[in-house]
Amino acid sequence: MTRVRFHSGDQLPLEMHKVRIVQKLILPPVERRLEAVTEAGNNTFLLQNAEVFLDMLTDSGTNAMSDRQQAAMLMADDSYAGSATYTRLVTVLKDIFGMDYFLPVHQGRAAEHILSQVLVTEGSVVPMNFHFTTTKAHIVLRGGAVEELLTPAGLEVTSTEPFKGNIDIPALRKLAAERGTAGIPFVRVELGTNLIGGQPVSLANIREVREVCDEFGLLLVADASLLADNLWFIKTREAEFADASLRDITRLIADQCDILYFSARKVGCVRGGGICIRSQELHDRMRPLVPLYEGFLTYGGMSVREMEAMAVGLEETMDLDMVSQGPQFIRYMVDELDRRGVPVITPAGGLGCHVDAMRFLDHVPQEQYPAGALASAAFIAGGIRGMERGTLSEQREPDGTERLAQMELLRLALPRRVFTLSQVRYAIDRMDWLYQNRHLVGGLRFVEEPDVLRFFYGRLAPVSDWQEQLVAAFRRDFGDSL
Ligand SMILES: *Cc1c(COP(=O)(O)O)cnc(C)c1O
Repeated sequence: MTRVRFHSGDQLPLEMHKVRIVQKLILPPVERRLEAVTEAGNNTFLLQNAEVFLDMLTDSGTNAMSDRQQAAMLMADDSYAGSATYTRLVTVLKDIFGMDYFLPVHQGRAAEHILSQVLVTEGSVVPMNFHFTTTKAHIVLRGGAVEELLTPAGLEVTSTEPFKGNIDIPALRKLAAERGTAGIPFVRVELGTNLIGGQPVSLANIREVREVCDEFGLLLVADASLLADNLWFIKTREAEFADASLRDITRLIADQCDILYFSARKVGCVRGGGICIRSQELHDRMRPLVPLYEGFLTYGGMSVREMEAMAVGLEETMDLDMVSQGPQFIRYMVDELDRRGVPVITPAGGLGCHVDAMRFLDHVPQEQYPAGALASAAFIAGGIRGMERGTLSEQREPDGTERLAQMELLRLALPRRVFTLSQVRYAIDRMDWLYQNRHLVGGLRFVEEPDVLRFFYGRLAPVSDWQEQLVAAFRRDFGDSL
């Protein structure tokens, strides 16, 4: 699948770019790592990045930009209204997605905010393959609910199913028949399903979803934040499109949709977002909210420099060399961990490597946040900052009981073009060591728990002295090494 083969038969991903700007990293000693994670309330969101060696928290706004993107930033037109930069961006968007209308927003969740304000009503239900944290929060805030309709394979941790993000079509048809057009503001397909491990959706499935939408008169909305990875998976895993260009695949996806929104913090490698809309009527309903919440219609809260770079970044997303780097590095990491027996989500998806904390720490009850504990342990073991995607990322039920997540994942994101292969191998080595010492890792409990999106700034403490024991084991095995 790598486009360059090694004579030796080695299965190594090969970077089709070179590095021209570097940033120095530091790796504090393990004792300091324990102190730092304690100061951060065992919440990796609260770590100071100056003390993080490998920042694998997210791919959001952290992807490496290209020389052409940086150059484009110098050409930005600063005008508040009618900026030439905006016109250039819209031209690229129309060319790529083929939709007539566009609204700029400052990032992906702002698109979700506007969509939810305009379309979601009290008591309505939004069917989707799987929720994303901010998507669900905005829908619920409007009195709506989310109905997840993954096929059963979607939640199987280890699988060979190539498109685990697919929507269960009979289930969608059944729900549409029950609720009718009035009860369903739109159907949402998340391309590159984030919370189940960046798992892709097939184009065949998107077409089937469109058929159901036509049958019941429903709007189809795509969340294209992780489009780049999903394009690679359609090209390499869906036989019908093996010879299609990424541009053609993109257009085939967009052609099925009424609205396509995205976080340009992921796709496009900048910081921003947008909503592409097919009909003028929908555009006119959403437009008033852009100047109200985001900024004037020709920048929507984004810097013109980022918009200029976004136009180039989206163009570059149509390039197979660009798009293949992330999924190939991720596959390398997943396969190597799998080979060592470390439980990971298979097959490899986009966005990052997802470690199955439910199996990794099968002695830690879900009420003690195994994925959160593993995130804390990975920082102590290697200065690696991952993100908890499990029960901690859920919200409690209205009556205060814990909503136990279906999966407990530690996500080790691989921002695009940022890490070298030796850094990835270091992360594999430390996760392997941690797995062999997994019995030392215990659970966490909240000491400060916010009501909304608690995972962003809640604070936790270990349930025992397990972290000190982990540091002692590290010193025993690694001597005075970092
Ligand atoms: C990141 C993300 C969002 C939210 O985008 P932000 O730019 O972080 O607000 C929405 N949907 C998906 C699938 C994402 O990955």
